[in-house]
Amino acid sequence: MSLKGKTAVVTGGGSGIGRACSVQLARDGAAVAVWDLNAESAAETVRLIEAEGGQAKAYIGDASDRASIEQILGRVRTELGPVLVLVNNAGITGFKAFLEISPEDLERIYRINLMGPFFLTQAAVPDMLAAGWGRIINISSSSAQTGAMGMTHYSSSKGGIVALTKSLAQEFAAQGITVNNIPPGFIDTPMTRSSPVDVDAIAAASPMKRAGKPEDIAAACGFLASEAAGYITGQTFGVNGGRVIY
Ligand code: NAP
Repeated sequence: MSLKGKTAVVTGGGSGIGRACSVQLARDGAAVAVWDLNAESAAETVRLIEAEGGQAKAYIGDASDRASIEQILGRVRTELGPVLVLVNNAGITGFKAFLEISPEDLERIYRINLMGPFFLTQAAVPDMLAAGWGRIINISSSSAQTGAMGMTHYSSSKGGIVALTKSLAQEFAAQGITVNNIPPGFIDTPMTRSSPVDVDAIAAASPMKRAGKPEDIAAACGFLASEAAGYITGQTFGVNGGRVIY
């Protein structure tokens, strides 16, 4: 329960990886702000946490919109406390040939996947500086490590997340704030199931012969948020069942 007395914000906390991270951080003692666009799914995550005796509250809004960020963080501070753990998880995927990606496609994916985490981190870091302690965990993608044909807008947005992680880690290392990113490999979530890929065939071809589970990412997230991970910062913490090995 190393996070007892601390507040964690998880964007995209209503589904897949974000839900599993929310549940894990609540098990570790944090009060969790489950932030999602989807009110029903965020409420379900809160229900799962409360059923285990944890503390959570749903916040509904666009995590890439600066006005929503200010408004929701203000409520989180009042209702749960200052934000000491931030999981920038909300994201969208995209599948399009490079020459067919429109300026609107690119702007949308960069806004949600890259600018949102940038603005939300700017808004939350003052809480961590005041406490002299903080954990920022950015959910990137293995596509940023390997490249991904037909997903250049997505993979480049996630590559930005990796560089954001490294730069923030350097900027705040002396203030007790660690910043790491987890690039999920191939995780069985609603996002993956609605993608134009054969989930079961890819899983069968994977070294472990299975897709990852959201809980596989959540375990890494819980560790990176813990006291035990206090000397780990700026790292890319791959969780991919051996699909990407450096
Ligand atoms: P998911 O099942 O689609 O869950 C994402 C959640 O984020 C959804 O509830 C979604 O709401 C919400 N969301 C999207 N945009 C938002 C916004 N602007 N503000 C607030 N909430 C927003 O996806 P997932 O597979 O768990 O993915 C989570 C993260 O992991 C993403 O960043 C993704 O790129 C990354 N990732 C996933 C995989 C994988 O294999 N699953 C691999 C690499 C990276 P709506 O459903 O209402 O849109």
